[in-house]
Amino acid sequence: MAVTPQTNTDLAGIAARMQEIDSFVLCGHVNPDGDCIGSQLALMWALRALGKRVDCLLARDDALDAGLCSLPGSDELVSASSYDGAAQAFVACDVPTVERLADAADVQKRCSVTFTVDHHAVESCMSQFNYVDPDAAATALIVWKLIEALGVQPDERMAHCAYAGLMTDTGGFRYQNTDAACFAVAAEMVVAGASPADCATAFFQNRSLASVRLMERMLDHAEIDLADGLAISYVTRADFEACGAVRADAEPLIDTLRSIEGVRVAAILRENDGVVRGSLRAKDATDVARVARLFGGGGHVAAAGLTYEGGLADAVSDVRAALLSALSVLEAKG
Ligand code: 5GP
Ligand code: MN
Repeated sequence: MAVTPQTNTDLAGIAARMQEIDSFVLCGHVNPDGDCIGSQLALMWALRALGKRVDCLLARDDALDAGLCSLPGSDELVSASSYDGAAQAFVACDVPTVERLADAADVQKRCSVTFTVDHHAVESCMSQFNYVDPDAAATALIVWKLIEALGVQPDERMAHCAYAGLMTDTGGFRYQNTDAACFAVAAEMVVAGASPADCATAFFQNRSLASVRLMERMLDHAEIDLADGLAISYVTRADFEACGAVRADAEPLIDTLRSIEGVRVAAILRENDGVVRGSLRAKDATDVARVARLFGGGGHVAAAGLTYEGGLADAVSDVRAALLSALSVLEAKG
């Protein structure tokens, strides 16, 4: 596996430094997903098994969806904006930049030792100890190895949380990032007590009715351009209100667009507190992270996100144009 140039230690080095520290605060990215929360909580249980004091933060005061709420320890997550604890060390899990730490950036500043354990490739680094492996399908895979490096025998809670991270970041072992390492490590997690069926039910068969109603609206607004392989849609503030939906209810929408035959790239834009949030997904080799970066966002080649400072109509038209251009670049390369 190839770590980034910003990586300045290995997992043994991180584990050795962590052993010397008594209190930790862990945090992932805004708009948290299964890998972000699953990695954090798996590491929380492992550090606690070593007798450490550990708090887990939410980068922003967002409601968690039902899948995330199913993870053991999720009820202990506190919003960073209301956290006034004092920990020696800050561990950023699945989050590469201070911007994506949002309210937790201030907490990070207050800690004397900082770590990043992540799989998002960025050109900067924000911690004293950085371990970033973009080839890892999920941060949970890295955390799983870190647990081993810490000398902790993984228990059922650690296994369940880490498995949830791996399962969600690989789309249930279906995305391009799914490789032999995912299956090998998943098998270890199942041996340690993770239940694939329970985890899949909690994350993939647990959708709110509001989310299904929001999907109807999303489909009404969808532009499906099969000639170019692009599907793009949006949901407005009014759509959220009419469906009684919260932010997390919009998460599954992108999967519906992506699942359509002939769609190579899917995009969803959502009106969100005065800005527009976008999710981009590629089924072929189109690099949607590059497109997201054009708008100040980022992510992975096949799954990326962005925040658009402006109106929804402009966001749809600008993102559509950028994606069409990325699709034609790929076409030209053959
Ligand atoms: P999602 O569309 O589910 O919000 O995000 C897909 C992927 O892109 C995730 O790995 C997420 O961390 C990353 N991502 C989403 N939004 C942003 C953003 O604004 N900036 C960066 N750097 N990454 C993002
Ligand atoms: Mn991740």
